[in-house]
Parts: sequence; structure tokens; C-alpha cells
Amino acid sequence: MLGKRSNKNMTTEKSAVFIIFGGSGDLAHRKLYPAMYNLYKSGVLKDHFAVIGTARRPWSDDYYRSTVVDSLEDVDDDEKAMTEFSKHFFYQSHDVTDSDHYIALKNLAAKLDDQFDTGHNRIYYMAIAPRFFGTVAEHINSEGLKTDGYNRLVIEKPFGRSFDSACDLNSSLTKTFSESEIYRMDHYLGKFMVQQLTDIRMKNKTFEKALDHKYVSNMQITLSESLGVEDRGGYYETAGVLRDMIQNHIMQIIGAVAMDEPAKLDSDSIHEVKRAVFANLKDLTPEEVDQNFVRGQYGEDATGKLKAYREEDNVDANSNIETFVAGKVTMSNERWDGVPFYVRSGKRMPAKSSRIDVVFNDKVEELGIKPNTTVTFLIEPENGSSILVNGIDYQSANQDFIKFPEDSHYFDNEREAYESLMIDILDGDQIHFTLWDELQNTWKYVDVIRQQWDNETPDFPNYMSKTIGPDAASELLEKDGNTWVWDA
Ligand code: NAD
Repeated sequence: MLGKRSNKNMTTEKSAVFIIFGGSGDLAHRKLYPAMYNLYKSGVLKDHFAVIGTARRPWSDDYYRSTVVDSLEDVDDDEKAMTEFSKHFFYQSHDVTDSDHYIALKNLAAKLDDQFDTGHNRIYYMAIAPRFFGTVAEHINSEGLKTDGYNRLVIEKPFGRSFDSACDLNSSLTKTFSESEIYRMDHYLGKFMVQQLTDIRMKNKTFEKALDHKYVSNMQITLSESLGVEDRGGYYETAGVLRDMIQNHIMQIIGAVAMDEPAKLDSDSIHEVKRAVFANLKDLTPEEVDQNFVRGQYGEDATGKLKAYREEDNVDANSNIETFVAGKVTMSNERWDGVPFYVRSGKRMPAKSSRIDVVFNDKVEELGIKPNTTVTFLIEPENGSSILVNGIDYQSANQDFIKFPEDSHYFDNEREAYESLMIDILDGDQIHFTLWDELQNTWKYVDVIRQQWDNETPDFPNYMSKTIGPDAASELLEKDGNTWVWDA
């Protein structure tokens, strides 16, 4: 159930063969193997699972297993358990365009099915460059890898680069997988506080009632990072913050905070109300893009020690890619009529912080809430996440209109986003994944901004590393008589 990182299926053993395309890569080693190991330690994965890692390099099973164990260095020091875990891993050298390799994969998966009694279930995980997603899915079809168990495809972001390319990708995937078999990852939807939001809203009736244009002055969503692009300059040059953060993570958070009350706390009901949010995003004209959206790119820091974006590895010395975006999103439904949703995401800001600030107006007193109260949901990096009321922990803020639900397991059940999402995939629950119709609307929205920006050359760099972003981001709110709550 959304909002309860519940224990419901956390101890029930699951059965599947995972086929990880890109099994030698960074994502697999940094996120997937540690998450799977924790599921193994808690009994979710036990005797009836196997993992086939595939990538181009000619690795042996033993070597692959040693890399899996190495990836757990910071997770555990129980060598016996790590070795036992790694015995479920098998390596298949593979080139995504070679049909014979898919036949070999199919045969290996069938053999492991028998060996581990995995019920013919398959999870195909795309931990590989996006340009290969369609090719892999089409070969899964043409070489007949799908089984009579369940077959689930997990796709990492980015899902396309624009509305058109997302449509092309989706068409190629749906030749093999139905929408109910596709799990589009947005790891923010696996984060504890984002999952808690619905439960908190539904169990705090006064707060829920206050989430309305009558009482909300503005919403603010900030996903700031203190790091620069590090070694991902090549990827970033094709993405920028707009595609990397706004189209997916920020939009999904808007969905969670702005949706109406769902009929039930299940996947269909939640997606129904979320879908309505994205359908109600107010279209932007090119002039409104200029008025309501600000882009930036980091320069050096004040000491000159940190490089400007244009000096980073694999970045064009004249790059016009944005490393910062701030904007004002509005909606055309009655509930949010006239309420600005200010969004902001950037690299090389003073600190890492993911947060939602709900700024109430003075009319909220009608509901027994102090006028001009701000409620902040801290998503990360705070351990376990928390709620602040006017900057003070909600428990000591002496306002009882908002509480964590008693059964939220908040204090003892913090799990990595990838673990939580992996359990959902094993359970066949799409509640925390992005559906195709949601994506279409968010891409359409973001495409207008991209197209307008591509028509004009920005004056970059326009903010110094380790600062809060360009001045225009503050002016955006000042024009409306507002200010950012988080100023680092
Ligand atoms: P990576 O470059 O570290 O790994 C890519 C993998 O693909 C390697 O195992 C490589 O051997 C394999 N590969 C490349 N060409 C191949 C081919 N022709 N045939 C077969 N295998 C081939 O990349 P990554 O950082 O692990 O990213 C993987 C995917 O996950 C990408 O889509 C990326 O956008 C996404 N992603 C990564 C992260 C992250 O933290 N690394 C976060 C979010 C999304």
C-alpha cells in the first residue's frame, strides 16, 4: 500500500530469474546488487532466485560473482552470506544486437529455472544505455524469451528525450510487453517520504482539506545537489536538468502532492488521480516559458578550485546545457486554481536537499491552522525523512493538524528506494512506477520549454558553484510576492 513501506510482503519469499542487461555496469553494482542482497538477508530472496548478468565483456561466473561481492563492501561484512548470495549469480557474455546470444540467454534462464525452481518467472532489467532498450525488447520477442510465468520489464530513466522519442520507444517496447508488464523506474517514487505522502494526506483530514487554492499560497519543490556532473558529463550533455530531473522526478512529486483523494490506496486508484494532475498541467506558450522558467549553468566557485561546467570532462567548452532550472507550474483544475507550484533543481548548489514546502496563506486559520504556516516534507538527505512545521520538527511544533500515521513504520523500516521498488516489481505492483499516459503529458509539457530554450542562446555560466542559482530564480518568486523557503 502506498505510504506504508509495509512489512506485508517483506518476509514472503519470491521466485524469479532476473536477467540484467548491463550486469557489469555502474547501476547494477552500486544500486541493484546491494538492494538484492538486502532482500536476500531479509528472506524476500532466498532459495528460489537466480540472476543472469549480461554485458559485452567475456567474464566467467566466478569473476562476475567476485564483482558482486565487491559491490557489497559497504553493505555488510558477513562473508559467508555474501558468498552464498553470489552463488545465485551467473554471467552470460552478450551483444545486444546478436540473436544467437539471446538464444543462449534463453537456454541458461531455462536451466536456472529448473535448478532454482523459479516458477518460470522473469524480470528483464535494462541497466544499459537507453539507445539499446528497444533492440533488447524486440529480441526478447523474436527469440521467444518470454515464458508462461510472469515476464516483467524494468526500464531505467531516461524514457526518451522528448515526446516523440518516448512514443517511438514505447511502441518498440509494447511489441513485446504490455503496459502492465512494464515497470518504468523513477527512484524518487521509491523514497520513503514520497511514499508516505499519500498516507499522511489521507490520515490527516485537516491538512488534506487545507491542500486547496483557498488555503495554499504556493507549493515549492526543490531537488538540489551539491555535486557537479562528476564523471557523467557525456550523459549530461544530452540531458540537462530539464530532462534529467524536471520531466520525471519533479513531475512525479507534483503528482503525489497535487492529486485528489484516491478511491482506494491501490495502484489503479492512485494512478487514476495522478493521471488527472498531469492532464491538468496548464500548457505554456513560448512567452510564458520566458516569464515562468529560468535556466542556469554553473561556473567556478569563489575560490576557483571547483571547475565550471564547461570545463568538465566530456563537456563542450561552449555548452549551452542547463545545470539549473527553476520554474512556475500551474494547473487548470479548480482545486489548484491560481496556485503556483514553484520547482527548482540544480547541480553545485550549497547543499543536497530534496524537499516539498507547502506555504499556507492567512485564511487557513479557518481550519484551526496558524496563519501563514509552512509545512515541509524532507525527502533527503535527512535520515528517515521528517516533517517540519515552520521549520520546527512537527512533534515539537505544537500544531496537531499533521502527524505521521501511527502504523507508518517510520522509525524502524527505512529502506533504500531500490529495495522497495524491487519488492513492488516482484509483487507485480505498479503503484510506484510511471505509467505511459502520465509520461506523455509530462513530456509534452517539458518539450515546450526545451523548444523555446533551443531557439535562444543563453548567457552561460550564470551562477557560481556552491550558490543558490541565478538571481532570476529568486526574482521569479518575488514577482508574485513570494520567496523560496529553502535558501540553504
Ligand atoms: P554503465 O556504462 O556503467 O554500464 C552499461 C552496461 O551496458 C555495461 O554493463 C556494458 O558492458 C553494457 N553494454 C554496453 N554496450 C553493450 C552492448 N552493445 N551489448 C551488451 N551490453 C552492453 O552505465 P550505467 O551507469 O550502469 O547506466 C545503465 C542505465 O541505467 C542507463 O540507461 C542509465 O541512464 C541508467 N541509470 C543509471 C544510473 C546510475 O546511477 N548509474 C542512475 C539512473 C539511471
